[in-house]
Amino acid sequence: MQTVNTDLIILGGGIAGLWLLNRARQAGFDALLLESETLGGGQSVRSQGIIHGGTKYALSGALTQASNAISDMPSRWRECLRGSGELDLRSANVLSDAHYMWSKGSLGSKMTTFFASKALKGRVDDVPEQDRPAVFNHKDFRGGLYKLNEIVLDVPSVIQALVEPHKDRIFKNNAKSTNIRTNPAGTIEAIELSDISIELKAQRYILTAGEGTQDLLAQWGIDQPKMQRRPLHMVVVRHSANLPTFAHCISTGSKPVVTITTHPASNGEQAWYLGGDLAESGVKRSPEQQVAEAKKILKKLLPWIELPNARWASFRIDRAEPKQSSLTRPDSAFAQVVNNGIVSWPTKLALSPDLADQILQQLNQQAIVPLEKADLSLLTDLPRPEVAEPVWETLF
Ligand SMILES: Cc1cc2nc3c(=O)[nH]c(=O)nc-3n(C[C@H](O)[C@H](O)[C@H](O)COP(=O)(O)OP(=O)(O)OC[C@H]3O[C@@H](n4cnc5c(N)ncnc54)[C@H](O)[C@@H]3O)c2cc1C
Repeated sequence: MQTVNTDLIILGGGIAGLWLLNRARQAGFDALLLESETLGGGQSVRSQGIIHGGTKYALSGALTQASNAISDMPSRWRECLRGSGELDLRSANVLSDAHYMWSKGSLGSKMTTFFASKALKGRVDDVPEQDRPAVFNHKDFRGGLYKLNEIVLDVPSVIQALVEPHKDRIFKNNAKSTNIRTNPAGTIEAIELSDISIELKAQRYILTAGEGTQDLLAQWGIDQPKMQRRPLHMVVVRHSANLPTFAHCISTGSKPVVTITTHPASNGEQAWYLGGDLAESGVKRSPEQQVAEAKKILKKLLPWIELPNARWASFRIDRAEPKQSSLTRPDSAFAQVVNNGIVSWPTKLALSPDLADQILQQLNQQAIVPLEKADLSLLTDLPRPEVAEPVWETLF
């Protein structure tokens, strides 16, 4: 086997791995990223693309740690989109400059007072009638409508923007012939790519493989940290109306009843992508039952809306996160040093900048500095992964 030496090997090319690759290269590290399928094709490209500021989690009536950790994220992403942030995302597409929250009827005075409270100042605005998005601009709309300081992004274009500057550093590995070689103390010695007889050696190995991290931990022989899956059953409806809708529908519960985002399809149609409690509670429903439930919810919440040429589909996907004592939501990005590796899950697309901060800080604390220069000529036999196609293209 021939050896390629580098500073960092990043395993997994979703938003977490790609954001980190950009930040690490910027910090002067020699880094290589391995992706076994498609870039962003795990959770990232199937996410709703909302850059949360945490307001959704404040629904329970108090700002939690999640809301605080995440509250900086919209402004950090906005700066990147303007070209003045830590990374240059000027080529990525913003689907909506704001996400909304609406309630069918009155929110009740407790909630209204809460939205007007100091804690949410600058994060939530009331929406005057004349500024309502088209979907809520109807005489029968009676509920409350709030505008959140959160943007919604076209994730494939974000992934592309992160890939572009470091294309030469991103390789497609065959997961079956990739082996983590460790010593008895559990330190990683190399990543072996047996199909091309190459071993990759690094100062640090960083796992950003989403759901795939569980298998990598098993191969490495590490049993802490553990991963949890949070299953979702998402619904997509493709139609030919022009009704861009980006909103959580809230009720008395602590989770949105449904979260709608809208994504352009390649043939000019739009896809409404439906998540929220519909997706969480829908795990036990069959695809037919889930689509029927989604139709029922939309009919009840937005009875005046018509979606011409609507085609419906659902699919199941798991969120991969660090294990919690209960199946509740983890609070912030997670990165843990284990021997000469770092195990990480961003837990939210929005938190990828926070995850990269944590990992660079951990490298700094361990006095890891740029040392190597990988001989890329030894890797010319490795293919390059494509950017994943979104589900609203592949499901229909
Ligand atoms: C339906 C849904 C909606 C969501 N909506 C939002 C939202 O609106 N806003 C938000 O902030 N967050 C959202 N999230 C959460 C967010 O999508 C995830 O937290 C985030 O995308 C995780 O990124 P990641 O890079 O860790 O994982 P992934 O995107 O899953 O990427 C992991 C990558 O690792 C690769 N991989 C796996 N095993 C290996 C291996 N052995 N070798 C090499 N590569 C490997 C996979 O192929 C994959 O490409 C949503 C999640 C879901 C499922």
